[in-house]
Order: sequence, then C-alpha cells, then structure tokens
Amino acid sequence: MSRTVDDNTPQTCESEHRRHESRVLVAKPRPLTPALTVYRILPQKQLRMVGPWCFLDHFGPVATADYQQFDVAPHPHIGLQTITWLFSGQLVHQDSLGYEQPLRSGQLNLMTSGEGISHAEVADAQLNDPLHGLQLWSALPPLHERTEPRFDHYRQVPQFTVGDCTATLLVGEYRQQGQHYQSPALTFHPSLALLLSTARATATDLHLNKEHEYCIYVCQGRLDCAGTTVREHEVIQLGTDRSELAIELGADTSLIILGGEAFELPVKMWWNFVSSDLERVKQAQREWNEGHPRFGEVAHYQGERLLAPEYPQ
Ligand code: MN
Repeated sequence: MSRTVDDNTPQTCESEHRRHESRVLVAKPRPLTPALTVYRILPQKQLRMVGPWCFLDHFGPVATADYQQFDVAPHPHIGLQTITWLFSGQLVHQDSLGYEQPLRSGQLNLMTSGEGISHAEVADAQLNDPLHGLQLWSALPPLHERTEPRFDHYRQVPQFTVGDCTATLLVGEYRQQGQHYQSPALTFHPSLALLLSTARATATDLHLNKEHEYCIYVCQGRLDCAGTTVREHEVIQLGTDRSELAIELGADTSLIILGGEAFELPVKMWWNFVSSDLERVKQAQREWNEGHPRFGEVAHYQGERLLAPEYPQ
C-alpha cells in the first residue's frame, strides 16, 4: 500500500505507554488509489502506534469486475515491514528484488523494506472472489531499520481455536492451555497479529502479555470487551497491564488483535517511509524521486511509478 499526497502530514508515531485504560476509536476512510477508499485504523490522530504496529488498512470487498480499482503503482518503503493478508480474492505483489508473488486467502506476504525497496500491488486480473483484506506495517526497531531488504511468502500460518473462534496467527506467538503457537513470519520486535472469526455469537478469554500494549480492530460484526461495545470499523485501544481479556463476539464477527512491546522512542513516519531519524526520511524522499539505485526497479509492473510528494517545509 502507499499513502496518498493528501494524507501526508509528517507524523511522529509513538507508543502511548497507557496502562489498562481503554477507548474506542473509529477507522478513517482514506483514498488508496483514485478509485478506491479504504479504512485506515492506524495511524490516526489519537492512536499512532501499538507495539511496532504503525499502520493498518482494511480494504475491500472490491467486486471482481472492479478489480482495477486496486492498482498501487511502484512506490518505495524504508524502515518497516509490510504484511498483507486476504480474507478473499487474489493480489499480485511485484518488487525491486525481482519477486512476482500471487497472494491468496490463507497465505501471508511479508516484505521487509529495511534500507530501501520498491514494490507494486495489483489485483489479479483473474479475480474470482471479491478482493478483501488487511495490510499492516510493523516499524523496524532502530537497530534493524537499515537491514537488507527481503521478501517472504508464507504458504500457511498457524490456525487453531480460541474458545469457539477460529484463530489465525499472522505474526508472533500465542500460548493457551499448555499449547504454544508460533507464526513463521520474520519479526524484529516482540509483536502479535492474531485474527479471530466466528459464525455464531460466543465468549472466550484471550491470554495476553502483561508487559505488551494491545488494540483490537473489528473487521466485521461486533465485539464486547473491557466494559464497552466495539462495532464494525472501530478499534479499541487497550493499553498494557492485561494478562487475560474476556471478549464476547457477535454472530459473523471477524477481528484482529494487534500487540507488542511499546517502542521506547517514537519513530518518524512520512508518506511510505519510517525511521527513528527524520533526516533519513527526507533523504529517502529525495533519493526515490532522483531514481537512486537503493530502491531498485519493479521490472514486472507496466506503468509509471508513484513519485514522493515534497517533504513539507
Ligand atoms: Mn506499499
């Protein structure tokens, strides 16, 4: 995904280091392409970052006939990992390392931008089901923000049950009743991305890490937790200091739990760049527009690349 020119206020993304208090916020509609609006959960003014998670978009469902609405031309990233997950439909990832990787529901695409990479994301022209999914960005901690860029495709991730819910572990680990589940996704910072879904209304308990901060976004349906109701396209920020969380899900609900160790220091985020150092963000903007080789070229994509807007003075 790429952020648009209108969505380009420089941001300082900072863990809020809240303890236990909760509040519900609404995802904001944002243009992803000229033809497609998505829900942006992170970052927003009142919630910049949860653990390393500094971006969460919920896109679709895009009807199969409208698949060209999802066409994100080549654009760069630094200092973060992008994680793409589909509830349905098919995407094709193309990047400057030469990967052209179709993504289907049940699989995970993970791109580690590090020092610099560029990629394009397009809907598969053979789309058979509506395109519907999530993209997350995990900020790389300062020690790893200049790591070698790489791309990983995981054909499957752990699935298990939490109460009566189907759980899918995208990132991190989850423990319950003596069981330990671990996602194969490459990480650089302690973090969790766990999907839950249920067809019928149910209640269960989540086992959390008391030291980590969390939020839960409701993709569909309804959630009751921490004494409040969270509806579709809303997110509940939960802070830290919870080792158990009782949750109640309405019928036909799906949600994602994001968590992790709070970043000690804020990161700078602007356009598609993240760094602990604002100068590195500004340098990336200049170098991408000048065609610097650190970002390579997305050879598989037919069409123009996106240019970075000027950094605001
Ligand atoms: Mn992107």
